[in-house]
Amino acid sequence: MGILDTGIKNVKNVTNYTVGPGSISEVNFLSKKRKNIFDGPAIYFIDEFFKSEKDLLKNFDFQNEDEIIFVNTNEEPTTDYVDQLIYQLRAKKIIAPSLIIGMGGGITMDIAKAISNLYTNPGNASDYQGWDLLKNPGIFKIAIPTISGTGAEATRTCVMTNKKTGIKLGMNSDFTVYDQIIMDPNLTASVPRNQYFYTGMDAYIHCIESLSGSYKNPIGNVFSEATIKLCREVFLTGDMMSNSNREKLMVASYLGGCAIATSYVGLIHPFSAGLSVVLGTHHCIGNCIVMNVMDEFYPKECAEFKKMLIRQNVTIPKGLCKDLDENSFSELYSSTIIHEKPLTNALGPDYKKILTPEKVKEIFMRM
Ligand code: NAD
Ligand code: ZN
Repeated sequence: MGILDTGIKNVKNVTNYTVGPGSISEVNFLSKKRKNIFDGPAIYFIDEFFKSEKDLLKNFDFQNEDEIIFVNTNEEPTTDYVDQLIYQLRAKKIIAPSLIIGMGGGITMDIAKAISNLYTNPGNASDYQGWDLLKNPGIFKIAIPTISGTGAEATRTCVMTNKKTGIKLGMNSDFTVYDQIIMDPNLTASVPRNQYFYTGMDAYIHCIESLSGSYKNPIGNVFSEATIKLCREVFLTGDMMSNSNREKLMVASYLGGCAIATSYVGLIHPFSAGLSVVLGTHHCIGNCIVMNVMDEFYPKECAEFKKMLIRQNVTIPKGLCKDLDENSFSELYSSTIIHEKPLTNALGPDYKKILTPEKVKEIFMRM
């Protein structure tokens, strides 16, 4: 299998999940169950949006010993930020937590995963960017997604940008997979419409990339097909944010995460990672900006994506790269082309012959 042989042939899924409106009420029971077998404080990472949602926070039985961190989502996680967080937690004498809870979108869920891993593996976050580098299981962790699409609740990675190397890569490991997820579609009702669309599309994009790649596989394909079917129901019929569609998208996000955990993304994610490293564009809106100009590589899927945009009355920013200088294009090229696994999956090992610097610039110019 050459450079794509990363050992994900033996796939690990989340051990337990609950799903359904109101399932957030399970959180106390599940936390206590864990605390009964392992003593120690809990660490809660909660998206800052929920700081003022007092009624919702009543679902948690916070103890004095516990640590609650409200996560700011202006920037996506960096390795430096994760290092700083674990340092601060240890400085507060939180040495052996019993469990870690991540409630929010991909940013919050990924930070919780990274901290769980660093508690039991020595060194810095950047030491574990790559495949199967962690030596020890992390702290028991529970995810509560509050926006659907990335599948971060299901996958074996936690994406972080290393500002020194320009690499956007996670700790890909079985140890990164959550032990428990609580999927409560009531939690996604407050997501702004555009954001709901951008993040939701991540599930669709993971699966069309995976199905078009040369490393697709029988189980991943079934997860992908089910995810795409749900995304079509959500985004091509009626209001994408109706109660039933929010539940469907939550399931699609989870299944899409399971799909991508068995395979690789394709062309869209590397270009989106380029935008993220060079311009700071967030993952999901970045994917949509790229998807919008992917007619050449994914013609049918791109046409369907545009139909979904019209149907849900959502717009995608344009003109991002029109005023960039040659230096920025060269940075965009290198931070895109570095993703050899997904690009090989999409275009074969000679992908650099297709994605020349001129071709990559032309694609960015269209965004
Ligand atoms: P996010 O965490 O970036 O949040 C997006 C916005 O939605 C934020 O402003 C947040 O405050 C807000 N928000 C979240 N829930 C809300 C709610 N219920 N009501 C109102 N506002 C709400 O969300 P995302 O798009 O899910 O995550 C993107 C991140 O996920 C990126 O950092 C990306 O790299 C990562 N990612 C991880 C994986 C993985 O497998 N680990 C896969 C894809 C993407
Ligand atoms: Zn993605």
